[in-house]
Amino acid sequence: MGIHVLDAMSREGFEEVIGVHDRKSGLRALIAIHDTSVGPAFGGIRRWTYISERQALMDVLRLSRAMTRKCVLAGVAGGGGKAVILDHPNLDREAAYRHLGRKVHQMAGRYYTGPDVGTDDAALGWLAEETPFVTCPGDAGPGDLAAATAAGAFAGIRAALRHLDGEADWPSRRVVVQGLGSVGAQLARRLKDVGATVIGTDIDVEHGRAVATELEVEFVEPSDEVEVPCDVFAPCALGGMLHDVTIERLSTRVVAGAANNVLAKAHHADLLMARGVLFLPDFVTNAGALLRGAMFHLEGRHMELAEIEQRIEGVCDDVLQRAAAEDEPPARVAKGIADERIAARRAAHS
Ligand code: NAD
Repeated sequence: MGIHVLDAMSREGFEEVIGVHDRKSGLRALIAIHDTSVGPAFGGIRRWTYISERQALMDVLRLSRAMTRKCVLAGVAGGGGKAVILDHPNLDREAAYRHLGRKVHQMAGRYYTGPDVGTDDAALGWLAEETPFVTCPGDAGPGDLAAATAAGAFAGIRAALRHLDGEADWPSRRVVVQGLGSVGAQLARRLKDVGATVIGTDIDVEHGRAVATELEVEFVEPSDEVEVPCDVFAPCALGGMLHDVTIERLSTRVVAGAANNVLAKAHHADLLMARGVLFLPDFVTNAGALLRGAMFHLEGRHMELAEIEQRIEGVCDDVLQRAAAEDEPPARVAKGIADERIAARRAAHS
């Protein structure tokens, strides 16, 4: 099947797609800019072994558009962008990231890049040596990004519990945290600190058990995780984990966490609602790192975790109230609010 780049771009109003090729390093990358109508585009670099160029294009378009939605909902004066590197065994990783960093630099602040799947601290270091238009976690930058993401997920969980029961009432809650990595471990700690019962799980059982022991929380085998009776299931692992089979097995009232694109298909939001599970979409609850990075670059300030929690909880409250009033899944309502705001900001700045 051919690739109709311009058709794909015009369907969703993308501004620009750039192909980057470097013979020396073997770099093949795409940068997509979805929206810069009110400020620069924000979004990290995903390095992935795509099965085709078409798949890479679809991914970069989908991810950059999702970043615009995240920005408008979180109140960031910027829009969505994203880069993907088409990984292959002969890629000279350092040279490739440096080349891409120089490309980002030529864009002169129209696009700020940062971490995503496959882009680790070493890669961020190479990028930062080529351009200031990159978000690097740490004290010299905006601070701990995973902590910011965990704060947003925590805020989403609190909003959902308040929405259902009028209060969070942590000591009576059981929360399953799926994926005890950078974000999940910090979320588990935050939940434990407020008195919730936390059950952790991780596909890397050795790592998961070690984190659970350190945090003094229960650990369950990853095969059993979705069936554990709980108040909240918090996905902090990979995307696509909510589908026909897992949704049938869930034994929770709320799903809210950090993992990107957690629904396998959009219609799974309806299935969750039909099963009486309140699902808060990831592009609302996992905007903490984006907020920290954007505030650092746009306003030169360090955003505290309490402010991130407050901001994201406010967005969740709005989405949940509107979803209840319209009897629609929160995921569809959040997308609708985001798309209305994107249209309005584009109209105001055209
Ligand atoms: P990470 O790689 O540090 O941790 C992910 C953990 O999930 C790992 O320990 C891994 O072993 C585990 N895992 C993978 N598949 C699993 C499965 N099927 N069942 C149970 N555990 C599984 O990643 P992270 O930075 O903590 O990010 C977690 C999620 O949050 C990802 O989806 C990421 O895209 C999303 N996210 C992260 C940030 C951030 O600031 N790090 C920001 C926005 C969104």
